[in-house]
Amino acid sequence: TDDQPPGLTVRELRVAFDGFTAVDGVDLHVAPGDLRFLIGPNGAGKTTLVDAVTGLVQATGSVRFGGRELLGRPVHRIARLGVGRTFQTATVFEHLTVLQNLDIAAGADRRPHTLLRQRRGVPPAVEEALTTIGLTGHANRPAGTLAHGQKQWLEIGMLLVRDTPLLLLDEPVAGMSHAERDATGELLRTVAADRTVLVIEHDMEFMRAFASSVTVLHAGRVLSEGTVAEVRADPRVQEVYLGH
Ligand code: ADP
Repeated sequence: TDDQPPGLTVRELRVAFDGFTAVDGVDLHVAPGDLRFLIGPNGAGKTTLVDAVTGLVQATGSVRFGGRELLGRPVHRIARLGVGRTFQTATVFEHLTVLQNLDIAAGADRRPHTLLRQRRGVPPAVEEALTTIGLTGHANRPAGTLAHGQKQWLEIGMLLVRDTPLLLLDEPVAGMSHAERDATGELLRTVAADRTVLVIEHDMEFMRAFASSVTVLHAGRVLSEGTVAEVRADPRVQEVYLGH
């Protein structure tokens, strides 16, 4: 229904705050099946770019996903078009169980009156998400008692049950142990197999292990893009990260 390739297509994206241009003409395409990492020094514009895609800040240019223009739509409409986001700190309902958290997320847009009703079975989408995030054995635990990594996985699960074909993740492994990071990498690979995933990340070791492609932002612009090996070999990237 659209001449754009599937996935996320950003064209000439610009965001300015009081005359300061934080995102300065970014072009970006992330295809479904790709696990794209967005890296760059502090202040490069990574968060602002994701804010623009999710409707949190005003921008010019174009952001297309699923055959639709996202720019200019309010945050809740963009979310309803299948765009999901996580922040560095997981926001789950601590006093509710893992299952209840997923249930609420699954019904969030559709059946508010049935939200916390006792159900006989677990809906298939919730069951599937539980398996994907590796929390099947913890379904009835209050989310507040989960380990840090498990809470992050639950938050991703809450996007999966809502049928979110585009996921924007902000430093998903911040504060995690090595084992949790590896499990998260595997989870993201699974999630990205049939979704479009963009991950803001500072952890270079994690990026090297799991990214299928990388976009490097610097001063609001795309400095480099390619595979992990291509980006690491790029002298412009080395200059930005290592200095002169
Ligand atoms: P990154 O996520 O890559 O660290 P940000 O997108 O957070 O970078 O920030 C990019 C630039 O925009 C920074 O110089 C930052 O100070 C500036 N910036 C971000 N948000 C605002 C805002 N609300 N008002 C003014 N300047 C901002």
